[in-house]
Amino acid sequence: MSSPPHSVHIVFVPLLAQGHMIPMVDMAQIFASRGAVATIYTTPVNAHRFRTTIDRSTELGMPIQFVEIPFPCEEVGLPIGYENLDILPSPELLAKFYHAMGKLQEPIEKHLRERTPAPSCMISDRNISWSSETAQRFGIPRFVFHAMGCFPVLSAHNVKHSNCLDSITSDLVPFEVPGMPKGFKITKAQLPGNSVHQQDFEVFRGKIQEAELAAQGVVLNSFDDLEHGCIEAYQKVIGKRVWCVGPVSLCNKNESDMFQRGNEASSDAENCMAWLDSMKPRSVIYACLGSLYRLAPSQLMELGRGLGASQQPFVWVIKRGEGDSELENWLMEERFEERVKGRGIVIRGWAPQVAILSHLAIGGFLTHCGWNSALEGMCSALPMITWPLFAEQFVNEVLVVDILRIGVRVGAKVPVRWGEERKVGILVREDEIARAIHALVSEDEEGQERRKRAAELGEKARQAMQEGGSSHSNVSRVLQYIMAGPTQEAV
Ligand code: UDP
Repeated sequence: MSSPPHSVHIVFVPLLAQGHMIPMVDMAQIFASRGAVATIYTTPVNAHRFRTTIDRSTELGMPIQFVEIPFPCEEVGLPIGYENLDILPSPELLAKFYHAMGKLQEPIEKHLRERTPAPSCMISDRNISWSSETAQRFGIPRFVFHAMGCFPVLSAHNVKHSNCLDSITSDLVPFEVPGMPKGFKITKAQLPGNSVHQQDFEVFRGKIQEAELAAQGVVLNSFDDLEHGCIEAYQKVIGKRVWCVGPVSLCNKNESDMFQRGNEASSDAENCMAWLDSMKPRSVIYACLGSLYRLAPSQLMELGRGLGASQQPFVWVIKRGEGDSELENWLMEERFEERVKGRGIVIRGWAPQVAILSHLAIGGFLTHCGWNSALEGMCSALPMITWPLFAEQFVNEVLVVDILRIGVRVGAKVPVRWGEERKVGILVREDEIARAIHALVSEDEEGQERRKRAAELGEKARQAMQEGGSSHSNVSRVLQYIMAGPTQEAV
């Protein structure tokens, strides 16, 4: 398809959380690179994190505008600067955070009224229900963006709309969810929805579902080959189009784009990249458990000991807020970094994850199975050690380990509720971590087959994004849909 005229203007409204914003910014860049005008709404603290990306797209003259709207912290009783979910110390502030997100509607609409060309479509995060009203007000279609794949979205839908839970008496015995690919089994305790328990949140959930029903379609960061028939099944049950346009992280082609993606990289990162250059190909385990949860120091110590005991080279990411005095004291008393010198490295703060995963020295990824991380691991053709923590991550683990067969479980059985990380303490022991690493790097037949499957999947992920690939074609379809105007047939 030829590039659309610049009058196709897509408005992106992300949820202010790293796992949601990062893929949406990538997606905006993908649509802009295909000739659409893109406007992405953000707030000052978040814009600061994306400064390099913003400057680069301006430098390249891409038709993409980042618009900063002040986040009304004070108005809703949030401390100033609490503009991203990863800054909230606990879910108690979640309702206020969503309240503040709701207050962005008016200034965004005001900005949109003045913006030229006029908007022709909106892609907004599933959690931002008011965007449905905004799209209607502007007479434009709205597509919902789930910051996860179709596999977890369909499984949640099928659990909700079947009576499969009626006969389940144990929280801990795996059962089959109807309508999912063969081999899909999960326990009741592991189902999404068990991680956040806030009274006011139910009201939000209701609004989100209503807004989802009103949307014209769904856009996902995934690719057709990964989804094992879930896209067709989901389209059928919701009666709307579902387009997979990813893995969107692959739009970051050069090293500096990968390095500064989503936040300013920690000062340890340069050193890490140089160290990786000195390591043997496919020898290093990269351990990073996402952007949101801050595990108990005792649990992190187990992770450190497990990495140490594995005898395998590693990069360990300790995020801000985790590296508090208890953990830091332990690292010092144990002379941890001194002892693992030459074999292991610690990054404190934001790791340039995609740049690290793309390094030839990385041979495995210990991940919490956040959708973006799992997908980024697949793009780098990596086998994974899976340590799900919350939300749909246990479902993603089933996809990685049982369906795709590119992962080894670390042995986490139940989710950790957000805000209760310290209360829960240790769920995974040092020896389980070391055992999973050994299994992953093993040269036995299983290990080799796992690596082969990961390599094949990585190739499919890349092909999907190339011209003629499924995701590339889906971007064309989305643009065609927008250009064809409001009268579109349902699926
Ligand atoms: N990420 C990163 N550096 C970090 C931590 C996270 O670049 O130190 C990125 C990661 O590459 C991914 C996103 O943040 O794109 C996290 O999203 P994911 O869905 O994996 O997990 P979440 O943080 O939402 O739990």
